[in-house]
Amino acid sequence: MNVRDSELAAGLLEKEGYRLTGNPAEADLVLVNTCTVREKAEQKAHSFIGRVGKFKAKRPGLILGVMGCLAQQWGREFFKRSPYIDFVCGTHALDRIPDMAREVRAGKKHPADTAFRDYPASLAVHSPPHPGEIASYVNIMQGCDNFCAYCIVPYVRGRERSRPSDDIIDEVDRLAEAGVKEVTLLGQNVNSYGTGLEEDINFPLLLKRLGAVQGIERIRFTTSHPKDISEALMDAFLEIDSLCGYLHLPFQAGSNRVLKRMNRGYTAEEYLGKINGLRSRVPSLGLSTDIIVGFPGESGEDFQKTIDLIEKVRFDNAFSFKYSDRPGTAAAGYDGKVDEIEKSRRLTYLQKLQAGYTLEKNKALEGTVQEVLVEGPSKGGFPNVTGRTRGNKVVNFQGDAALFGKTVLVKITHGFAHSLRGEMVQGGDVESCS
Ligand code: SF4
Repeated sequence: MNVRDSELAAGLLEKEGYRLTGNPAEADLVLVNTCTVREKAEQKAHSFIGRVGKFKAKRPGLILGVMGCLAQQWGREFFKRSPYIDFVCGTHALDRIPDMAREVRAGKKHPADTAFRDYPASLAVHSPPHPGEIASYVNIMQGCDNFCAYCIVPYVRGRERSRPSDDIIDEVDRLAEAGVKEVTLLGQNVNSYGTGLEEDINFPLLLKRLGAVQGIERIRFTTSHPKDISEALMDAFLEIDSLCGYLHLPFQAGSNRVLKRMNRGYTAEEYLGKINGLRSRVPSLGLSTDIIVGFPGESGEDFQKTIDLIEKVRFDNAFSFKYSDRPGTAAAGYDGKVDEIEKSRRLTYLQKLQAGYTLEKNKALEGTVQEVLVEGPSKGGFPNVTGRTRGNKVVNFQGDAALFGKTVLVKITHGFAHSLRGEMVQGGDVESCS
């Protein structure tokens, strides 16, 4: 979602005459998009802003703006901590970035906008795809009403707001016309899409409408909340051809006691029930998840239940983190804080276990033929190109620029820790099409 907000901000500034540059020395404006979901992300943002501040001392005309969740949380306090910041743009005020840059150029000191609006600007702003863009993000909602005990999102992104479906379809139509083949629908909790809208719509119905958009070959979405995965959504994987068989479904902890303290609204058994429901429909479904280790009060026994769940599900990938207090959240006031060394020990153990499963899953694809949407040159450049399977695995293989934007069949020859290697085949049977 932050990546999409950065793209939207860049699009707005391009309309103002700015151009993106990879060289900070020639920048007239540096806009830092910040995250505060974990303490480490916040520290990284402060440290980067400090580095730009030093650079700005040598380039007084340079404008430095901050946006995103940390900007929302800190507001005008940011100017006290980092006086070299010129403007602060909160999470609902994305459309005001060009105005604020103009105000700073005109001599106004420290404009800031962190007001919550009825309808956040990131849902109203469209930005055209860049030439040759094959996969795009589309915001369908913003904010969250779930208030998980550890999470700062409801406080910095505001309450849940959905975007009218006609507006989403219109944007996706225009992306398709511009040659985009894949869209990823974004929201803090896409499964509850539609709540509060006047029209009769929910997430599976939105997917059906999007499935009918000509030219869009692949639809993905993130992030899903397990409690809101409905039977209708599970069926959508069977009914909508363009909906890719891949799901990111955070489980966070395997212990029901911890899940309750997290205010997650489901048990481990219910989570496993949803996984079974999904896999009974799409056996090859690609699955990834988020996990927090060392939540306040998590005992060794609780942690073992997290490990047990990983072993039962065998995810394709997992994003795992050590718990850190986020000021203002319920969990920041919880007792039973887990020692940092113990948190690190649990995280290392878990990541090693998951790395084994990820490799196993990738190796299991060796010999299969996968549909791959080619997105561009591989990191090492030509003669290799890169793309993703419907199950969201990165595949590198020999090819040229004529393949960009095309879906081709690739026989997987090697499964590695983070990607697959393959060779293009003509008309081979697709054995696994996750
Ligand atoms: S559902 Fe996600 S975004 Fe919402 S409070 Fe929970 S963790 Fe945060």
